[in-house]
Amino acid sequence: MAVGERSGLPVIVAVHSTVLGQAVGGCRRWRYRDWRDALDDALRLSEAMTLKCALAGLALGGGKSVIALPTGEEELTPELRRATMLDLGDAVDAFGGSYGVGEDVGTTAEDMLIARERTRYAYCLPESEGGAGEPSEPTAEGVRLGIGVTLERAFGTPEISGRRIGIIGLGQVGSRVARRLAADGAELVVSDIDTTKRRLADELGALWMNPDETLRAELDLLVPAALGGVLTHDSVATLRCAAVAGPANNQLADDAVAGDLVKRGILWAPDFVVNAGGVIYGSAMEMEGCAREEALARVGAVSGTLGAVFAAAEEHSITPLDAARRIARERLEAASRGRAIAR
Ligand code: NAD
Repeated sequence: MAVGERSGLPVIVAVHSTVLGQAVGGCRRWRYRDWRDALDDALRLSEAMTLKCALAGLALGGGKSVIALPTGEEELTPELRRATMLDLGDAVDAFGGSYGVGEDVGTTAEDMLIARERTRYAYCLPESEGGAGEPSEPTAEGVRLGIGVTLERAFGTPEISGRRIGIIGLGQVGSRVARRLAADGAELVVSDIDTTKRRLADELGALWMNPDETLRAELDLLVPAALGGVLTHDSVATLRCAAVAGPANNQLADDAVAGDLVKRGILWAPDFVVNAGGVIYGSAMEMEGCAREEALARVGAVSGTLGAVFAAAEEHSITPLDAARRIARERLEAASRGRAIAR
């Protein structure tokens, strides 16, 4: 953790694992009551990135960065936005390449271009600069695939048409998932704390509810697409859906919630499997130099990975969370053994 030289704000970089390769993960610029909350967020999110990359079969590790804005409603000025990104660039560069940053909640591809002024380890640059651009498009594509796999497991068919699906959060990813599901004939219930998003609900013919109502609505599937921690011991007790699959990172308030979901007969698709499309696509384009079509095709791997996680959960009578962790751990241990032998 450092206090940004220009912004005066806490800039946190968490590197969780480099066993499989360079630790990657986006930078979250968000409001926190205390910098320690931001640190907790960075640590949990960086672990999720390790799991995400390992499960997606990428030669990348897990990291995350957070810029902790003070609480309050005032808008970020362009000067402060720029200052935070230059500070981030310095913080990332200090890791000498063991961590590569991209965008996350509260940051954009244009922000990464600013960070690039201070470090070569900033990715997800705008397409006009030869970067992979906005990752939420491939992330949404992966989420859409994950929803199909989850529905098939829960109902015996991946068919979207006629399914009642609730989405919490209509941001970059949630809005794109909503458009895809609407086009596939889902009956949508949508929500966001930002009521200007209601326009999208009207455009898609979706039912607008507040986020708490959506969480408790009678649904075939719930899509958490806002921030983490939405599935708590209390909220799971009141869910009325058959399954949950969405992009929001760290949906479970703690690991034991995965057991609550199983007890309630609700199928949960681990977030770090479902939302891997962005990192799969971005790393293929910016780190491997793949063409767009090849990079997009690789996002299809989300289906196979999620299917393998559900199958392992059933085979070993464990939660999907434990099944996903088990597969990731096997890959990490195999890589560690490989390194030890090479030494
Ligand atoms: P975003 O900031 O564009 O959208 C988040 C949306 O959630 C906003 O519209 C915000 O108003 C809304 N929101 C915030 N708190 C809410 C609440 N309590 N109830 C309802 N709505 C609320 O972010 P995004 O890029 O769409 O990411 C959404 C989630 O997916 C995040 O958890 C992010 O970490 C995760 N994710 C995103 C990507 C990506 O490619 N963007 C990749 C992997 C994971």
